[in-house]
Amino acid sequence: DERREGVVVRSQSGHCVVMESGRSWHCRVRGRLKQGAQQSRTVAVVGDRVVFRILDASAGKQREGVIEEVLPRRNKISRTSSKRDRGRIEQVLMANLDQVVVVQSLDRPKPTAGFVDRMLATAERYGVQGVLCLNKVDLMPGGKVDPVWDYYGRIGYRVLVCSATDGIGVEEFGQVLKGRISLLLGASGTGKSSLLTAATGLELRVDEVTGKTGLGRHTTTRTELFPLDCGGFIADSPGIRGFDPWDIDPQDLRDCFPDMVEPASSCRFSTCLHRDEPRCGVKRAVRLGTLPRWRYEAYLAILSGIESDSRRAGGGYPRRRRD
Ligand code: GDP
Ligand code: ZN
Repeated sequence: DERREGVVVRSQSGHCVVMESGRSWHCRVRGRLKQGAQQSRTVAVVGDRVVFRILDASAGKQREGVIEEVLPRRNKISRTSSKRDRGRIEQVLMANLDQVVVVQSLDRPKPTAGFVDRMLATAERYGVQGVLCLNKVDLMPGGKVDPVWDYYGRIGYRVLVCSATDGIGVEEFGQVLKGRISLLLGASGTGKSSLLTAATGLELRVDEVTGKTGLGRHTTTRTELFPLDCGGFIADSPGIRGFDPWDIDPQDLRDCFPDMVEPASSCRFSTCLHRDEPRCGVKRAVRLGTLPRWRYEAYLAILSGIESDSRRAGGGYPRRRRD
């Protein structure tokens, strides 16, 4: 009859795996925590800190417990389950994320314009630290990185230069992950798995069709936390890698570009989207050269993407409940 605190690393219809000082416990969610069918599915999600009661700790038995309390969330990643509920029901994918680590390869594949901006804006959207990792520096002549990447450091992001194959920056990459819950984002082939293995020894699942658990298709969209030997967790699922980690409306997007906040303070309209509006501080900053044009264009591209997604979904941005 003992209470412990741990982190949910897997969650499926009321059953969770909870990690507590390196051990995992199979827990069900106490009935009174479930309030109706809808809530019960997301009452405890991956990343939640929970208090559980140990059920049976006798030798040889699977460690079991009951989750009695879900501690308040620092933040969460959600998406709207658009098909059934016309985009109005929130599906929480995970909670208590510490950082988003964006992996971009400097060559093979070549960087795509706007990609890093989009991923870092995602980190801002979740209210967490964004870290940029430039991988495959071994492919650059003389090991040189285009100075344009320095811009991200100037606007406050931590920038790592790495080579998973040559071991450059790998230790620093590991230091960044240590003790934190991280989400790795980046196009396939940029070297996310290679960096992770080089820095921490962890091998993420390769078979994204059946999933690591072998439980078939259904499990593959679920997010899972993978514990690191150095402490901390990596959040992963083909779902979280592949889905647009995005639920945002145009007004939110303005706040996801930290370097636009100051120039936006002199826009004539407080709702200015910095596109066609007159007397726009952001457009002025672009003219003056204090905000790089490529950064502004990345913003515009995301903005029009959001708008056409919304039109496809039948109009109206999926405004989310904020609790
Ligand atoms: P992921 O899809 O982002 O997980 O990428 P992978 O880790 O599977 O790597 C994709 C390919 O890039 C593999 O062939 C790796 O061997 C290669 N690769 C990964 N990191 C580096 C690097 O730092 N330098 C070079 N030259 N190749 C790398
Ligand atoms: Zn403006």
